[in-house]
Amino acid sequence: MELLIKETAKLIKQSKFTIAFTGAGISVESGVPPFRGEHGLWNKYDPKVLDLGYFNENGAECWQYIREIFYDFFADAKPNKAHEVLAEMEKHTLLNAVITQNIDNLHFEAGSRTVYEFHGNSKKLKCRKCGRIYEAAEIDMSTIPPLCIDDGEILKPDFIFFGEGIPQEAYDNSFEAAEAAEVCLIIGSTGEVTPASFVPRTAKQQGATIIEINPEETLFTRQITDIHLKGKASDVLEKLAAHLF
Ligand code: NAD
Repeated sequence: MELLIKETAKLIKQSKFTIAFTGAGISVESGVPPFRGEHGLWNKYDPKVLDLGYFNENGAECWQYIREIFYDFFADAKPNKAHEVLAEMEKHTLLNAVITQNIDNLHFEAGSRTVYEFHGNSKKLKCRKCGRIYEAAEIDMSTIPPLCIDDGEILKPDFIFFGEGIPQEAYDNSFEAAEAAEVCLIIGSTGEVTPASFVPRTAKQQGATIIEINPEETLFTRQITDIHLKGKASDVLEKLAAHLF
């Protein structure tokens, strides 16, 4: 492992454009559970509460679960060492962009600045009638569903639901970065969610070296990964940081 870490550090230092593609796994050590796997959220909740069609018809019911998942126990999550090392890499100009599938805002809270949120962000709510945006922190979640104060419409979290398209700007920025990448870190993602998983695949097609950080093997591992640093994101990135700064 130590040799692979050293080799990865060398590749990152030599690279003119490095990106990190992150999934739910990077936030597990912040206490945010992933969707899939043994302790995944989908063992406890029905994914239909995040289906756009179902939400349109049953907003009040969906909000009971949405509040519990995203605003009760996600709310206190703090960035962990893995988020911090990525932010530090950006400051040292060793990382050009973070492309995240996560909606927990933890990369920004850790200090990363160039972050493309492929699936949006849970810290904002949106009125789909008038377009007004609310900070989740300013909403009284004791009464649900939360309503727009201008027109009484049920607010929707500003992350994408099943059946919704990817925000255009994040999509364009992510693929542009993937095409420019010489090194692409994939951290804590199963690779099962499309089109997000096409981002590191595009980087690979354009010649990037793919470094995967995950305690498990994933769809990426055999197909596109060049170096698999097997372990938890915070442990591996802490070790990597020792060779970078
Ligand atoms: P996933 O839930 O499908 O898979 C998580 C991956 O993380 C697995 O491969 C697992 O082995 C790995 N993992 C677990 N613990 C880890 C650790 N400590 N360090 C590194 N890796 C670890 O996640 P996904 O592929 O990102 O896709 C799920 C979708 O769910 C995403 O689209 C995302 O939007 C959403 N999601 C987001 C959050 C969040 O914002 N934090 C949480 C749950 C789900």
